[in-house]
Amino acid sequence: MPVIINYKICDNAEACNAINVCPTGAFRWNKEKNSLEIDESTCINCGKCATSEESCGVGAIKFAKDEEELKKIKKEIDDDPRTISDLMVDRYGGQPLNNPFYCQEDELQPVLTTPNLCFVEFFNDDSIECLIKSIPIKEILKINNENNTYRKVEIATDKLLNKYGVKSLPALLIIKNDDLLGKIEGYYSIDQKQELMDKINEILNK
Ligand code: SF4
Repeated sequence: MPVIINYKICDNAEACNAINVCPTGAFRWNKEKNSLEIDESTCINCGKCATSEESCGVGAIKFAKDEEELKKIKKEIDDDPRTISDLMVDRYGGQPLNNPFYCQEDELQPVLTTPNLCFVEFFNDDSIECLIKSIPIKEILKINNENNTYRKVEIATDKLLNKYGVKSLPALLIIKNDDLLGKIEGYYSIDQKQELMDKINEILNK
C-alpha cells in the first residue's frame, strides 16, 4: 500500500479533496464504513492524492515510493504528536463530529436567547472546504470560561442572511441574549487562527 493516511490529523470526511484528485477513483469514500479508503486494485501509484496542491491541505496523505520510504512514513505517523484539534477542528462532517452542534434554520431562535455567548456558524454546500479553513470550536467554547453555545446552521433560505446582514458564507455570528454582538465572514486558515481569535475578542470587548 503506497498511500497512507495519517488519521491523527485527517478529518476523514466525505468531502476530502483527494477523492476528486485521484484519476482512477481508488481514493474514495466508503459509506458503510463512514471512512475514506484506498482501493489497492485500482490505485496506479501516481501519488497525486498525496502531492497535488488541490489535495489534502494539512498533509495527512502520504505516498511511499518503496518499502523503505513506507517504513519511514509509518514511523513519522506513529511519532506525530498532533491531533485534529491542533488544526482547528470539526467542520462539515469530519470526525470528530459533534452532531448536537447542528441545527436547522427554524430551530435556531430558542438557542439565541441563552444568557451566555452563542456562536453560530452559517454555511452552505458551496462554502464547504477542508478543515484547514475551519473554526476552532473547542477554543471558542472555552472563551471567558463560560458555558458557551455553538451551533452550525446549514443555510437553505435567505431569511437568516437578511436578518443578520450576512453577505458571504461561511459566517460566524456572536450572539448574546438574542443580540448580535458581531459577525465574521469568510474563511480563516490554520495560519490565521490567531487573527480569527483576535477578531472574536475584539467583538467581545467592544
Ligand atoms: S496514488 Fe494515485 S491512483 Fe492511488 S489513490 Fe492516490 S491519486 Fe488515486
